[in-house]
Amino acid sequence: MNEAIETIRNIGVIAHIDAGKTTTTENMLFFSGLTHRVGNIDDGNTVMDYLDEERERGITIIAAAAGFKWREALIHLIDTPGHIDFTAEVERSMRVIDGAVVVFSAVEGVEAQSEKVWRQAEHYGVPKIAFINKLDRLGGSFDRVFDEINDTFGDCAVAFQMPVGVESDFSGLIDLVTFELVQFSGDNHDVVERSPVPASLREEAESWRERLIETLANHDDDLAMLYLEGGDIPLKDVKAAARKLTIARHIVPVFTGSAKNRLGVQPLMDAVVDYLPSPAECPLIKATRVKDGADVVISPDPAEPFTGLIFKVAASTTADLLFMRTYSGVLKTGMKLVNSRTKATVNIKQILRLFAKSHETIESAGPGDIVGLIGLRDCGTGDSLCEHNRSVFLEAMSFPEPVISMALEARATKDKDKLADALKLLCREDPTLSLSRDEDTGQSLFAGMGELHLEINLKRLEKEFNVPVRVGEPRVAYRETFKSSDTISARFDRMVGENELTAGATIRFSALPRGDELFTVTSSVPSMAHVSKTILTAAETALAGALKTGGNHGYPLIYVAAEITDIQITPDKSTEGAVVGAVLMAVDQAISRLGTRVLEPVMHLEIMSPAESVGEISSYLQPRRAVIHQMTEQAGVTKISCEVPLAEMFGFGKSLPKLSGGRASFSMEPRGFQELPAALASKQFGLL
Ligand code: GDP
Repeated sequence: MNEAIETIRNIGVIAHIDAGKTTTTENMLFFSGLTHRVGNIDDGNTVMDYLDEERERGITIIAAAAGFKWREALIHLIDTPGHIDFTAEVERSMRVIDGAVVVFSAVEGVEAQSEKVWRQAEHYGVPKIAFINKLDRLGGSFDRVFDEINDTFGDCAVAFQMPVGVESDFSGLIDLVTFELVQFSGDNHDVVERSPVPASLREEAESWRERLIETLANHDDDLAMLYLEGGDIPLKDVKAAARKLTIARHIVPVFTGSAKNRLGVQPLMDAVVDYLPSPAECPLIKATRVKDGADVVISPDPAEPFTGLIFKVAASTTADLLFMRTYSGVLKTGMKLVNSRTKATVNIKQILRLFAKSHETIESAGPGDIVGLIGLRDCGTGDSLCEHNRSVFLEAMSFPEPVISMALEARATKDKDKLADALKLLCREDPTLSLSRDEDTGQSLFAGMGELHLEINLKRLEKEFNVPVRVGEPRVAYRETFKSSDTISARFDRMVGENELTAGATIRFSALPRGDELFTVTSSVPSMAHVSKTILTAAETALAGALKTGGNHGYPLIYVAAEITDIQITPDKSTEGAVVGAVLMAVDQAISRLGTRVLEPVMHLEIMSPAESVGEISSYLQPRRAVIHQMTEQAGVTKISCEVPLAEMFGFGKSLPKLSGGRASFSMEPRGFQELPAALASKQFGLL
């Protein structure tokens, strides 16, 4: 039996670091009761191996996607990485979730990363509910943070609860929808008690409730009618309007509590079921058909051909565990699917339902579900698995370029192989990590999207894989681009044994403006007929490879368009190897004739700071070549948006708390590459 689609909720909990995402999540799992269920039925051996290894490495499935039951629903909590270095991963998780719980701290309020992830959720059309957490803390305020949310995100927040007491007196909530006092008793606050609103809180609660009903009525005609008629509006109508408006993203219901003290968690879980959409209520997904690049609409219909997206890999030395979201059709054990990227057939041997600390084998899964698959070869994050009759890409297959690298080696020579295996495994899990070799020193170069991104992965090497490593200073991952544009013709002529090999290639190289496109390789050979498809593909692959290998300084070339305009073939003498040889010679000539300049990675940095620290922060940024685009102030908090070269930002995470007395927060993400200023280029590379 497939899970009924209406009962599924795929959600992400998103927040600024330290707002309480982990505590909230763990308590949801606690209350769902499933964290206490141990062991399971029907384990295949691969599964056991995988889990044993996972236990050894001290990680849990919960980190990626944990399922649990709450009321009538099956909720999947999808991990959304907290730090902005993981942009590609954040974006992927945004596609996979259908709704989000945004956690704010009642003390710190709206912080840089909470704003960032909120906007990302908006960009992907993800409906949200908000949870103002830490109401028990000194300085916590529901009203202030509620207003801040409205100020920052355009008056969308609607209070669905009101706290009773604050700081150490915080003891419960008023449910503004049912108009009841909600309290928590029992050792673990696992008993939820509902009673009439006490007289002392009535006035305040009524005013909040009035605001709630008014907002709903403003957006919903049916409710407006009932509101205008006067009298009590039935609970079911209030809930139905709230659900509709949340899913349509007209409102964001706001809840509150203290996750740490287990106050307010169960009502938040109820809200996930009541107000966030099931996969059946989400906008239809657009995919790209492999055979002709046409748009295809994928609907969550069991009768459609199967389509699923692998959104996460938990790599292991025994068998990788892949997390897949199903979008259409029904996945069944024994099915043969196609991986639209590799075109390889993929056999579905076992389908797992993943709970927080256990799993069970299931026979099939319908649309909108999240399942685990073990031991599929050559499948990775971002791959779409489809039925053969409809092969599509659910996601564009490009990952951002790494911007920072570190040299590393195992402390003990005996760990050398172990390190190599562990690094490969980490790269399998996260396509924005990459591994190369420093030709000069023979060390491994581990590259990623930011300082923290690498640091977190280095910690994993030591903690999970038990490989102590020695690491070099973080280094900026430079790139190069051509100084000008030109068309180059090169000829390959060589005697190989008795045979004369010859071929020519004409390629137009031009610079692309800084943007998303890193490089394009195309062919427009005039009379294609004389060049076979195999040779043309080999020529294009060689061309792309040569550009990546590097320019005059050994850094990969980007922002380059390379168009093969002609290939000169001599019958019997122009083998594939000869054509590739000519292409490589053309690239070499282009590099020396056109010249290259060095590019450095630029970061987009957003800082949210109390007004009094703005001066200090600006003086820190100015000598670091930052270009400040915007400074806006809202409720005493200044938001600074700027672009700054990554090379200048090492250690910023440690400096900012000192500059702001710990009160500023920031988010930083790569924004392409820019030319290294002449003075620096000459200092670092001896360039004129
Ligand atoms: P995350 O980084 O968003 O996952 O945040 P965590 O859940 O790890 O919480 C960060 C810190 O805040 C931890 O020390 C938690 O114990 C604490 N914390 C989380 N929720 C609450 C809360 O409701 N009240 C208080 N006082 N502390 C909390």
